[in-house]
Amino acid sequence: MEIRFSAEDEAFRDEVVEFIESELPWDWRTQELDSEEPEDLKLVQQFKEKLAGKGWLTRAWPKEYGGQEASHMQQLIFNEETAYRGVPVDDGGVSMVGPTIMMSGTEEQKQFFLPRISRAEISWVQGYSEPDAGSDLASVQTRAVEDGDDFVVTGSKIWNGAHSGANWMFMLVRTDPDVRKHRGISFIVTEMGLPGITVERIPLMWGASRSLVTFEGVRVPKSGLIGEKNMGWYVGATLLDLERSGVGNSARATRLLEDLVDFCRENKRHGRPISEDPVTRSRLARMAVDIQTSKLISYNVAWMQSQEQIPNKEASISKLFGSEMLKRLYGLGIQVLGMYGQLDPESKWAPLRGRFERGYMSVAGNTVAAGTSEIQRNIIATRGLGLPRG
Ligand SMILES: Cc1cc2nc3c(=O)[nH]c(=O)nc-3n(C[C@H](O)[C@H](O)[C@H](O)COP(=O)(O)OP(=O)(O)OC[C@H]3O[C@@H](n4cnc5c(N)ncnc54)[C@H](O)[C@@H]3O)c2cc1C
Repeated sequence: MEIRFSAEDEAFRDEVVEFIESELPWDWRTQELDSEEPEDLKLVQQFKEKLAGKGWLTRAWPKEYGGQEASHMQQLIFNEETAYRGVPVDDGGVSMVGPTIMMSGTEEQKQFFLPRISRAEISWVQGYSEPDAGSDLASVQTRAVEDGDDFVVTGSKIWNGAHSGANWMFMLVRTDPDVRKHRGISFIVTEMGLPGITVERIPLMWGASRSLVTFEGVRVPKSGLIGEKNMGWYVGATLLDLERSGVGNSARATRLLEDLVDFCRENKRHGRPISEDPVTRSRLARMAVDIQTSKLISYNVAWMQSQEQIPNKEASISKLFGSEMLKRLYGLGIQVLGMYGQLDPESKWAPLRGRFERGYMSVAGNTVAAGTSEIQRNIIATRGLGLPRG
């Protein structure tokens, strides 16, 4: 079997690569940006504005909402090339909130939010997880009680990027505590500067942070309710058919492996280039096969979408394999780099600017965020293999 993109898609890839490499405000080959860190976010914002100016930020959106209706395969190419160069451009506005508003929002909400998202004027954080609701998201307890034109919101949302200074949160809140837990949840959006909202930084072991956001009787205007009240679980689930292949993992891994291989060529251990050590060579080769496998799994998901098929277990396979593969790659890198590989990016002695150390510490989070590996395995077991629920 031969897997090839069309000539038109390849021409688009060339255009994307040329644009990114000429416009990127940071050294993509040596920096790992975290768009949930305020300093990095400034750089990401600059680049988002450039993409927005070209109409590329929301390229996959329908034309009536300011998009260009990019095909799934072209969006895959765009996502692949941006991830390869470490460009974290989507804060959930483009891929989640915008599409949710298109599907379930009022005309007024569409007019207000969609142009602002496509012009990169507002930024978002995701307020789903709570201290007692993560994998079991339907257990959210943050209460929203109607009072006049507002909801009065009380509760807390954790592990989000609110400390980055994003100005809006999209969140799931409980509007009816007396019905089955998937019912009685609403999807609302709120500005982050309202009285009664406090943001507390939670330091993480790799030097970054995530936030605990507390709501104490916060009056959120009812105009922020997206879709029907108490139907938020289903509102959040009816996302548009945008590209969701998870190709970012293999793209990022490709760049890391290339840099690791260069390091092995350029550095010696026991008097000879590391690249001549048969055990290291074999492990690097095995990794290259893993990355290629992950990439093809992602291509399959995008291809299914392009054929108007709905990827289900395939999306879980992609998330599981891709995030676990990335974890193996950082583990391999730390071993290959030796003792110096454990130095953090601030040290002048850190090889590859400490990217493997930083990634090794943070990558476990990739196997947790957006659905843990165990949850993905459950989905593959039940929806993919037809096994009974455990
Ligand atoms: C880096 C990072 C960024 C994040 N960003 C955000 C964000 O922006 N917004 C947001 O809302 N949330 C965010 N999260 C939270 C993330 O969605 C949750 O951490 C995740 O859903 C898991 O929930 P939990 O942490 O409560 O763990 P739990 O759900 O308590 O799980 C604990 C352990 O039990 C296992 N487990 C749970 N249920 C089952 C089951 N049914 N079968 C088998 N095993 C099970 C899990 O796999 C895990 O190993 C982020 C998390 C991380 C790590």
